[in-house]
Amino acid sequence: MRGGYLARMFPRAFRVARIGGIAVRIDPTLILVALFVVWAFTGHFGEAHDLRAAVTMAVVGALLFFGSILFHELGHALEARHRGIEVRGITLFILGGVTEMDLEAESPADELVIAGIGPWLSLVAAAAFGLVATFAPTVGLPGTGAVADVAGAIGWVNFGLALFNLVPGAPLDGGRVLRALVWRVTGDRGRAVRISARAGQLVAVLLVVVAVRMILVSPAGAVNGLIWAAIGWFLWTAARNEIRRAEAEELLSGRTVADLAEAPGPVLPAATPLEQIAPTLARHPGREVFAVGDDDGVVGVLHLEDVMAMDPHDRGFRTTDDVMRPLDGLTFVTSETPLHDLIPALERDRMVAVRDGDRVVDVLTIREVGAALERLA
Ligand SMILES: [Zn+2]
Repeated sequence: MRGGYLARMFPRAFRVARIGGIAVRIDPTLILVALFVVWAFTGHFGEAHDLRAAVTMAVVGALLFFGSILFHELGHALEARHRGIEVRGITLFILGGVTEMDLEAESPADELVIAGIGPWLSLVAAAAFGLVATFAPTVGLPGTGAVADVAGAIGWVNFGLALFNLVPGAPLDGGRVLRALVWRVTGDRGRAVRISARAGQLVAVLLVVVAVRMILVSPAGAVNGLIWAAIGWFLWTAARNEIRRAEAEELLSGRTVADLAEAPGPVLPAATPLEQIAPTLARHPGREVFAVGDDDGVVGVLHLEDVMAMDPHDRGFRTTDDVMRPLDGLTFVTSETPLHDLIPALERDRMVAVRDGDRVVDVLTIREVGAALERLA
């Protein structure tokens, strides 16, 4: 699976390794699935081996299981980086692996290769483990039977990984492939994103239906049913986020800062006692920051929280200059700045300073921009 802005979904993930410069993180939920995999493998191998051997094989199998997922995701990550897309890292979580990228592919061809390489590598791994499973018993050494059994199971895991990921619904790899093809044929990226995400939602609904059936038909299948239902829910959420992002993308493209502001926000006069600005503050309920300026333009930003944090007695003889924060460190934009460039700066600093020539004329907060974008939508 692939995700652009999924990092926020895994706030508890911790980094365990760095492979080829790519950070590998593990979400604590993975521990649950690791226990489940060991338990399931122990049952599977226990049919032909004694318990001790079965547990050892299950632990090795579980390591290879997660190694297979990592191998698949590393394929996406390294190929993406090779094509100039910044990769934030790979996160393994309860439902598999996700590669987080900062940008989207620039062309349908890039998209196709980055998406296709994961399932392709899983198929190659499936074939390799299949060969080991087939030929290990012919070596005739002790323990080769166990090696063959583990290799056989992991071969099927990789085959399943490839097949499931090729289902044509975003954010699964097959969905990305579909998206690349629609993008190529129609030349319309937004449309391709929407179609592949809708297909992903359809897949998600089908998965949940199948999962509910599994749970109803046999209580023994309840655990599997729950896992499939969880995967369906995850796919639904991810596909919905993709549609939202595509819509946001369309809203931003071709627009600049000038499209946002109807009029500059209020500017509090510099060197003015705080008591005198109270009426201005009251006229803008809900507003948390105010630009402070003089004839030369905006010189600082007054945060309401700073005023509230002061001793009420002090407010009587302090001025706007005393409490304002300097503009240093803020990103400066102009009315011609594309909204595409504005959003990352806003996400980082919560506000930007708007400049007209040498003068700073306004301060835009993430809240105001959000409200303006809603009006545009
Ligand atoms: Zn994949």
